[in-house]
Amino acid sequence: MSTETFQFQAEVQQVLQLVVHSLYSNKNIFLRELVSNASDACDKLRFEALKNPELYGDQPELRIDLSFDASARTLTLTDTGVGMGRQELIDNLGTIARSGTRQFLESLADAQKADTQLIGQFGVGFYAAFIVADRVAVTSRRAGSDEAFTWTSTGDGQFTLEPAALAPRGTSIVLHLKEGEDEFLDAWTLRSLVRTYSDHIGFPIRMPVEKDGKPSDAWENVNQAAALWTRPKAEVSDEDYQAFYKHVSHDFNDALCWSHNRVEGNQNFTSLLYVPEKAPFDFGSEREQRKGLKLYVKRVFIMDAAEQMLPAYLRFVRGVVDSDDLPLNVSREILQSSRQVDKLKSALSRRVLDLLEKTARDEPEKYLAFWNEFGNVLKEGLAEDSTNLQRIGKLLRFASTHAGEREKLISLDDYITRMKPEQQTINYLTADGWNAARNSPQLEALKAHGVEVLLLHERIDEWMIGYLAEYEGKKLRNIAKGELGAAELGETLEEKSKQEDVAKAAEGVIEKLKTALGDRVDQVRVSQRLTESPACLVLSEYDMALHMQRLLKAAGHDVPSAKPTLEINPAHPLLQRFEAETDLARRDDLALVLFEQAQLTEGAQLDDPVAFVRRVSRLLAS
Ligand code: ADP
Ligand code: MG
Repeated sequence: MSTETFQFQAEVQQVLQLVVHSLYSNKNIFLRELVSNASDACDKLRFEALKNPELYGDQPELRIDLSFDASARTLTLTDTGVGMGRQELIDNLGTIARSGTRQFLESLADAQKADTQLIGQFGVGFYAAFIVADRVAVTSRRAGSDEAFTWTSTGDGQFTLEPAALAPRGTSIVLHLKEGEDEFLDAWTLRSLVRTYSDHIGFPIRMPVEKDGKPSDAWENVNQAAALWTRPKAEVSDEDYQAFYKHVSHDFNDALCWSHNRVEGNQNFTSLLYVPEKAPFDFGSEREQRKGLKLYVKRVFIMDAAEQMLPAYLRFVRGVVDSDDLPLNVSREILQSSRQVDKLKSALSRRVLDLLEKTARDEPEKYLAFWNEFGNVLKEGLAEDSTNLQRIGKLLRFASTHAGEREKLISLDDYITRMKPEQQTINYLTADGWNAARNSPQLEALKAHGVEVLLLHERIDEWMIGYLAEYEGKKLRNIAKGELGAAELGETLEEKSKQEDVAKAAEGVIEKLKTALGDRVDQVRVSQRLTESPACLVLSEYDMALHMQRLLKAAGHDVPSAKPTLEINPAHPLLQRFEAETDLARRDDLALVLFEQAQLTEGAQLDDPVAFVRRVSRLLAS
């Protein structure tokens, strides 16, 4: 067999180029990425060897060696991990498995290509080697195989593969440094990089002992070689936690916050859970294929088990769980059906909620950053996790009529502190978009009474808020449905009886409207909601919001259409004109225009817009 040449997958070349150009100012990270891969490879071998100890062969040690050759201008990183076979070298170093990468790359504008945060969303990985090297040679022997291969590339679209002389088990990466990158040919620099970025790695990272300023044949450890989560909290710095976060999450950005805990008693485990600052670019598709939470059993990496260990609504969490109780040979199937794992899962969910609560309380701005990034995911918890319903409720944030700005968000607790003495319900409005919510006529009377209303304007809201029937003993109330009364408006008795008088006086108008509108409406009644608009449409408490009905119908679903109730504001001149109108045809026009206007404000499309325009023209001309 001789040397074969392969083309990189198109995406690889694009990512490689982006990484090299955008991350030059962070070029040190190449070492962190390569050490991270070496550590993963050692983890994998240890796991595979649980079933097949022979994989260790004559090399039982798992470790990572870093050395350099100043005259050849090379840097070499060698691990005794699981290694890669021929096909693995082709697949792992020549393709990018993540779906959506191409679309994401194509969506990037040129200016964004220099944005390290965006590039970081890929997880930088192996290709970071090309930031500092113009040629990279990877020689690897898969554990259990006696063939070794060398992969070589200059990062310009292709790579070669050739059989290698029998190499030790694992992988050895030789970086031929670019012109001007001599700073990495220095023992002191390399040591401090390892300590800064890779101290948390649980395997020994060794470098040659320096004698008279020259590397000798003896090796020594340069990191602590104890997995970070096994170390006492007090001894771990924030920088260490952030460095470890990057290793477990493959994220280039920092974590927003984290929680590190050792639990002893019925269950024994250590967890280190992180909330990222930014969602990865393919986060939306992760509900199905979740990753990011690594399961260890007694320090041995077992698998990525986010799906088994955390509910879907916490899928943004990254980190590790190290259990002392689970068996080392635990399989995915066992994880799916074990009560022990269920308990672990609820313990972890509580930890995450604790962490979010603490962040919300102590660092509200940080919490808002979290909410803006992952709030819509957390909301799914209302449907998914009934045990923690109230706790999730506490973590929700809403726009409201109080702040009046889309970005100024409040909590339910904030809302409660501002409730009127007579007010009993937490009022909210769902709408299709921010403007529809903010300008809804449904809010008029509530605003006039100084009663705050939560403005829920995201698609998911109508569906999720239904799961939270009450919070802190107070009923959540959709103010676009049913009749509003004292409970919602916080009205006094006096105000209430005044309203009743108004309703009595309007009985005549209501009858006339009913006749004119026929079966377009379920009922006509005097509104408690309006102060400025002439009329609005209202559903019964159990009907689906009108904008949701439209959405589902547009998506081809069969939705029972509920007939709305027309609520009127008898004080409005339009209604007074209607009452005084003696011409029957014109009165019908007025009734219909009133109804159609209410449909329009609510965001609906009219059945017959031409007829509407004709009616309006007739009225204007008369
Ligand atoms: P990631 O680590 O996020 O999977 P990388 O680009 O860092 O992505 O690495 C790509 C893949 O190459 C890894 O998933 C792994 O399968 C393989 N790989 C890289 N370095 C090594 C190594 N030292 N030993 C074994 N496999 C490796
Ligand atoms: Mg990697």
